[in-house]
Amino acid sequence: MEENISPKEISFVCTCGKKLQLTLIGGQYQFSWQNKCECGRIWYLEDLSVEEEEVDETV
Ligand SMILES: [Zn+2]
Repeated sequence: MEENISPKEISFVCTCGKKLQLTLIGGQYQFSWQNKCECGRIWYLEDLSVEEEEVDETV
């Protein structure tokens, strides 16, 4: 059984240096977090659990 722990907010530091909280926007199949920084940048983060890249090159 897989358990997905999705925090409602994620601390994030914008490239401009400002700290911001990405807030969870619910999805049916995956979660994502979004917020807009004061500098105007919009950050969009998708399901963190998928972030792991599979390096599967056994040659
Ligand atoms: Zn910013």
